[in-house]
Amino acid sequence: MSFPLRPHHGLCLMYFTGKGYSESFTANLSSIAQTLYENPKTEVQLVCHCDQVCLPCPSCQNKVCTEEKKVLSYDQHILRLCGLTAEDRLSFLDFQERIQRFILTPGLRESVCRDCCWNSLCSGISPKLAQKG
Ligand code: SF4
Ligand code: SF4
Repeated sequence: MSFPLRPHHGLCLMYFTGKGYSESFTANLSSIAQTLYENPKTEVQLVCHCDQVCLPCPSCQNKVCTEEKKVLSYDQHILRLCGLTAEDRLSFLDFQERIQRFILTPGLRESVCRDCCWNSLCSGISPKLAQKG
């Protein structure tokens, strides 16, 4: 069974350093990050709606993000840049490699999510890429 993941959360996971919207949010995201980075061949399904990262988020109301328009634009931009479409399935490793190749290496991360409230934090972090093992 594949792991549902909002496309922009593939990017957020690379910049996650234990900070987040609430204690339960960061505990949940830490656990997801640990699972995916330790098992990079896990198949993810790219979904443009609330995923398991969102569930404990204070902004997830009735399974819809209160900033849906903004975060959906991040998702769509990432899909376009990576040559993917919603509902595509690929390994977490393949997805991270595409993000690295098509977004991070050409310096396009801020073109996706410059207006995110975490942008200044992420700007100072070296992204963590899943390893082939
Ligand atoms: S700036 Fe926001 S959307 Fe972009 S990687 Fe950081 S936390 Fe994720
Ligand atoms: S801000 Fe929105 S997209 Fe981000 S984790 Fe919370 S509910 Fe999900």
